[in-house]
Amino acid sequence: MASFQGSCLCGAVRFEVTEPFVSVSACHCTSCKKISGGTGTVSGRARTETIRILSGEEVLRTYQPAEGMAKTFCSSCGSNLFGGGWPESEHASVRLSAIDSPFDTKPQAHIYVRSVAPWETLPDDGAERFDVRS
Ligand SMILES: [Zn+2]
Ligand SMILES: [Zn+2]
Repeated sequence: MASFQGSCLCGAVRFEVTEPFVSVSACHCTSCKKISGGTGTVSGRARTETIRILSGEEVLRTYQPAEGMAKTFCSSCGSNLFGGGWPESEHASVRLSAIDSPFDTKPQAHIYVRSVAPWETLPDDGAERFDVRS
């Protein structure tokens, strides 16, 4: 069974995903820029019940913005770990930046490309592009 391990920068939070991702996408929205410190987030979509927290559950914080989905980060180091409404939603996003296991699946879609910043260049990688979401 495919299983990916992941962690935050300080190592307090460790988790695994016990099924392959349903899809992988790069989000260029303004919220993802704010939480990532870069051009956005790249996430795998997984069934929430396949995401298992192995350690550090007590340092996880979930932020629910006025608009959009809840985002979860490590309150010790600030690493962004989950989105898409985790842990309440049926499916959730797992930030690929947190995955430590070998992982070579490229994003199949770039979403929220309407929010691509002037200082950002979209890669010419053949992935489908969506103004908002797929
Ligand atoms: Zn941490
Ligand atoms: Zn986003």
